[in-house]
Amino acid sequence: SPGKNITSLTSTCCYCGVGCGVVVNKEKNGDITVSGNKDYPVNKGMLCSKGMNLHYTVNDKSDRLLYPQMRYNKSMPLQRVSWDDALERTAAVFKTFIEKYGPDSVAFYASGQCLTEEYYVVNKLMKGFIGSNNIDTNSRLCMSSAVAAYKLALGEDSVPLCYDDIELADCFYVTGANPAWCHPILWRRVEAHKAANPDTRIIVVDPRVTDTCSLADLHLQINPGTDITLNHAIGRLLIENGDIDIGFIRSHAEGFEQYSALVFKRTLVESAKICGVSERDIRLAAKYIGEAKGFISMWTMGLNQSAVGVNKNLSLINLNLITGHVGKPGSGPLSLTGQPNAMGGREVGGLANLLPAHRDLKNPLHRQEVQQFWKGKPISPEPGLTATEMFEALNDGRLKAIWIMCTNPLTSLPNVRLAEEALKKAKFVVVQEVSNKPETLAYADVILPAAAWAEKEGTMTNSERRVSYLNKITDAPGEAIPDAEIICRFARKMGYPGFDFKNSTEIYAEHVKLTAKTNIDISGLSYEVLKEQVSVQWPYKKKSKAGGTERLFADRKFYTPSQKAIIHAVPDAFSSERPDADYPFILTTGRIRDQWHTMSKTGKVNKLNQHIKEAFIEIHPRDAAAMHLKDGDITVVTSRRGEVQVKVKLTTQIKPGVVFLPMHWGKILGSDLHRANNLTNDALDPISKEPDFKYCAVNIAKY
Ligand code: SF4
Repeated sequence: SPGKNITSLTSTCCYCGVGCGVVVNKEKNGDITVSGNKDYPVNKGMLCSKGMNLHYTVNDKSDRLLYPQMRYNKSMPLQRVSWDDALERTAAVFKTFIEKYGPDSVAFYASGQCLTEEYYVVNKLMKGFIGSNNIDTNSRLCMSSAVAAYKLALGEDSVPLCYDDIELADCFYVTGANPAWCHPILWRRVEAHKAANPDTRIIVVDPRVTDTCSLADLHLQINPGTDITLNHAIGRLLIENGDIDIGFIRSHAEGFEQYSALVFKRTLVESAKICGVSERDIRLAAKYIGEAKGFISMWTMGLNQSAVGVNKNLSLINLNLITGHVGKPGSGPLSLTGQPNAMGGREVGGLANLLPAHRDLKNPLHRQEVQQFWKGKPISPEPGLTATEMFEALNDGRLKAIWIMCTNPLTSLPNVRLAEEALKKAKFVVVQEVSNKPETLAYADVILPAAAWAEKEGTMTNSERRVSYLNKITDAPGEAIPDAEIICRFARKMGYPGFDFKNSTEIYAEHVKLTAKTNIDISGLSYEVLKEQVSVQWPYKKKSKAGGTERLFADRKFYTPSQKAIIHAVPDAFSSERPDADYPFILTTGRIRDQWHTMSKTGKVNKLNQHIKEAFIEIHPRDAAAMHLKDGDITVVTSRRGEVQVKVKLTTQIKPGVVFLPMHWGKILGSDLHRANNLTNDALDPISKEPDFKYCAVNIAKY
């Protein structure tokens, strides 16, 4: 009968880095339905509102790009062309720029939503054959501060623990994150654990009162940007109280003396004043952590998206290190990835400063290993342009062509008006996309239609190093094809060898081979193994135990040269844009529960749009009263970079002097006047080059 299920296959949710397993059923009428995979270890059948409604985004094809389009010059309209015509012309333009201006005149800007195989081929194309490291992804906006901090503290970008440690921990320190809304299924596990073990302590650090706070034993509502001061104050108290692991520090860590000297420079009174919380509450946080047998620190964009993001991360990881809570059950630093495959991208080296399998771009031996494996050009030792730097380089003419793949930078980049100017000035723009909605399409010289989730096979890695295989369940509409195939076809048009893969299986086989003998060795993995075991945590060498490696550093040997973890004495210096008389408020940004990124997928689902229907700005009633603003009034919010017009939402859940805008709205479901990133600051962390999305100075006025 119509609607009767004919195929049932497993996949992984393509939204957040929790990485929930799903079962996708294909019905006779061609539509799909999605349910939680009860056998999947991450979510055991549970899905959040976004995951539950995933099928609508696939079944509704009304916004899909169906065929390649191209224009021969900027004054001509786009017209339908064949794949061959689109890729041949693109190859000709790229070759011209590379010959005339060098390989650094072109760039690829990709996404943490790409499958690992897609990441692998585009990284190989750019670094191995075009000869530039100008390949970066929107993971730069998301996880690059955590990547750098893990590397500095543990010797490598490696999340040491697994989700099953949640049920073994008795203290959680959740900072710069709202997992109740942004990583809901992981948070359900914390909730269930707390319900079963009421003595489990949960500390939440956030300038706003979020849904996550409803589970907290202690909420530290700090002043935005004061995270390092708070973490150092807690570190000091842990030392004073004797709640540190001296044995671990002596045998397995370096840098404690400098750290200790630094944290004792500030009194608790000073720290409490800077952070805007009470001394009592900081003492209580230190007490909870000090008493814990299993301590997990959990964080995401509140720490990462900062001009001092790496130092914020390090100050937090320090708390795990001085207490010895790493490499043992129920303990460790757990960075929550915002995107489904941010970690897979890092594995293949898909950022401008990385090489495959966490090899080091600066290391000549590593570059040589990769070059020999790929049989390509010598790899440049110079890091390529990062996400925001690419748009700066388009603006000043250093970069001539950009290929945007699977991401919508004209809503998601900070100081987005500058990015708009950059795309106007670009000589050549390729947009590889699923949807006809993103703002980037208006600037494209070539549009390449890509297959979406469930329309292609491949792998992803979630926040706990869990690699999963995603089945292809349905065909892509029109002439859309998988992203990896687009890149390989283009590489062949460029005349490069090494892109004759028959399918994704072969791409994956090449990727895992390149990881052999590295710390993230997954040379034992293949599609066959993944299909049989459903998911595996890396490392997974040949002949590994089923399921892979749950926990790293159980032997307390870290990936640093000394095999010791490094405690970094990072200053609590502040470098964000300060409020002043012209821009007296601090703006912070974030997600809402039922939307994803720039709404190109979730914005298609009516049910999800019901939760919060329009953009808003959260203002404390005291601030609003001073400006004669009422709930629902339209405000004009300005920063040194742009303007936003949104409705006021009065709430006491935000501190006076601080305002909040959701990051999702742009032209896809609203107007560019609702776009938070008109205002945000593109100041970067000096190490990670991650932008300062969470802090800038704004002014507010009634419309
Ligand atoms: Fe998908 Fe994340 Fe929700 Fe799980 S928690 S269903 S991965 S959005």
